[in-house]
Amino acid sequence: MNYIKYTVFILLFVILSCSPHGNGTKKSQLTKNGVEKEDYLKTIEELNKDFFKNYWEIEKIIVSKLEKEGSEYFIENNCYEILGKFESTLEVYCQICEKLNIDNKGGLLTSYLHLNDIENVKKQYELMQTDEIAFVYKEFYKYEDSGKLLESKYISIKFDKRVEEFANAVFTHINAIEEFIIQEWEGLLPPKTRVMLLYCDGPGPYNSNLNETYLPIKSRSISSSKKEAGGIVHEIFHLVNIQLLGQKCKFDIDWGMNSFKFLDEGYAQLIESKFMNTFNENREGVDEYSKKIVIANSFDFKELKTKWGELFSSSDVKIYYLAYSFACFLEDKYGEEKHKALFLPVANIPENSWLEYVESYFGLTVDDLIEEWKQKLIQ
Ligand SMILES: [Zn+2]
Repeated sequence: MNYIKYTVFILLFVILSCSPHGNGTKKSQLTKNGVEKEDYLKTIEELNKDFFKNYWEIEKIIVSKLEKEGSEYFIENNCYEILGKFESTLEVYCQICEKLNIDNKGGLLTSYLHLNDIENVKKQYELMQTDEIAFVYKEFYKYEDSGKLLESKYISIKFDKRVEEFANAVFTHINAIEEFIIQEWEGLLPPKTRVMLLYCDGPGPYNSNLNETYLPIKSRSISSSKKEAGGIVHEIFHLVNIQLLGQKCKFDIDWGMNSFKFLDEGYAQLIESKFMNTFNENREGVDEYSKKIVIANSFDFKELKTKWGELFSSSDVKIYYLAYSFACFLEDKYGEEKHKALFLPVANIPENSWLEYVESYFGLTVDDLIEEWKQKLIQ
């Protein structure tokens, strides 16, 4: 089956330091002398409440603070993570991570990749060898930057010089992508989504700090450029969702949130197929596949909720197909609007975990929903 062009992997960080949920907040409430938090931190905290909207303003303030006080200031106040969110401060961010020995699951590696610092990309890859997600970055150090950038209002595309023709082909879809994302997520979009097209194969991770996604396209033919355009829509959904969730929830968002990835990847594929006008044919395929898995009775569907990360790197079962099929089931049951709004929370989420939030939102446990979905498949 070939409905879904690649497995997309997600990479998550604590969203913002110096924010209500960032890991820097408690320490930075008071400075070392015990005096009240200074104006800079207060300003950033305030602007962070709508990070995307205030993005360029925050960048200016941060660059100026960095010039005045140097990187030590950001280390002392434990709010250096924000430096990883802007091109202008990315190099300093990498230096601080090195100095503090920060291991952030590929975030440093992709930051170096963005900077075309290939030697350090390779070094980071070697350092993360024992990590279960290392394979995702296997060929990233082979990147050869073209030195060119394709840019539209919301999206910029940087690419390996060996895929220039493909990059140009993807760029012919840029107006269609922008129209679609504005219609879906106006007011919630990152000010700039960065895309890097790589000359390798494998999953496509993203760096939510940089709003950047890495799409391996070595084995794609030019005629599949529309599929990559769909991939960009898919990734932008992740970036919008993760940003909103980071603002509205009180739980940490991390690699261990299996139940999140199960639903998030399902919806990302669903919205991608709506952009591509392939919703119906994809659905038929993934429902058929899921039905076979139900009938074979050899897979515990509850593991989608509890072991997504593990299944992603080791299972023979196509978990993205299952997630897609489950997303379609949710949309049938609750309607398009209600399903969509799960991922675009407008109010603060009072629950203590993603799973609790989902279960109170739908009024059923995810286990019950999975059971109902399985029954529907074999009806
Ligand atoms: Zn994805």
